[in-house]
Amino acid sequence: MTTTSSGGSILIVEDEVALAESVHFALEVEGFDVATVGDGRDALTAVRATPPDLVLLDLMLPGLSGLDVLRTVRKDHRMPVIILTAKDAEADKVLGLELGADDYVTKPFSMRELVARVRSHLRRSRLGGTPDDSLVIAGGGVEMDIDRHEVRVRGTEVALRPKEFDLLFALLARKGKLVTRDTLISEVWGYDYMGDTKTLDVHIKRLRQKVESEPASPELIVTVRGLGYRFLGE
Ligand code: CA
Repeated sequence: MTTTSSGGSILIVEDEVALAESVHFALEVEGFDVATVGDGRDALTAVRATPPDLVLLDLMLPGLSGLDVLRTVRKDHRMPVIILTAKDAEADKVLGLELGADDYVTKPFSMRELVARVRSHLRRSRLGGTPDDSLVIAGGGVEMDIDRHEVRVRGTEVALRPKEFDLLFALLARKGKLVTRDTLISEVWGYDYMGDTKTLDVHIKRLRQKVESEPASPELIVTVRGLGYRFLGE
């Protein structure tokens, strides 16, 4: 655990130790606070003790099945739940979605895909959306389609690198509000980021070149001197 704000807290419920460890590691590297349990009952205890921002839930578990865990969690909690299913468990997948899971990934899955899904669900839940919404946020002529990972600037699609996309999201999702340098660094690079904070300035500069009409005198991504940045525009 860390005292710095993180990308969110995630509970992994998975009894296959090697898989649980690799998912745990992949998410930790991405800046999430991660806890892992290998048993259905422990999962309920963990959710009650400290509700996480998102749950990754294997369905075939000792103690209590993943579907039972899901049913119980959903009585009191609305956090996103992504179920982890085996390829041949189509019925469980459907039942899981009916019981209130937000998404599923089929084993074996790529860590890259899993991390992308986790980020997408955390973003939605922070913005108060539901899993069925196509999540688009907009301001100042900039439109971000979160699921499609597309950005339009004054009607024209622009290609952003992953960090630029995350940075723009962090600013646009808080349109009009100051976003501190610390918040941006921890949300975009992760709490354990050890690099030079100049990296942030370099990415802001690149982002301005892609979204501002006149990058040299920015009107959308404005600097709040000594503190951070603010996204302006209705
Ligand atoms: Ca299992």
